[in-house]
Amino acid sequence: MKFFYLSSNPTSEGNYEIHERECDLIPDILDREYLGPFNNGKEAMRKALDLNPKASTCEKCCISSYQAVFFKKN
Ligand SMILES: [Zn+2]
Repeated sequence: MKFFYLSSNPTSEGNYEIHERECDLIPDILDREYLGPFNNGKEAMRKALDLNPKASTCEKCCISSYQAVFFKKN
């Protein structure tokens, strides 16, 4: 399990990014909301969308696990 947070500040595209606790890009503690423990960014995304329909996954900490799956198919 990893611990995920939802940013309280939108990106330039107007999305609110989900970050894993260890992510280098995670916002300051005052600018994030705790989502809870999840196996991966995709599960965290489901919870985050309930709180904020504009939630999106961080490319650094959330997307890498998807890419690993995609690359195996190639
Ligand atoms: Zn991140």
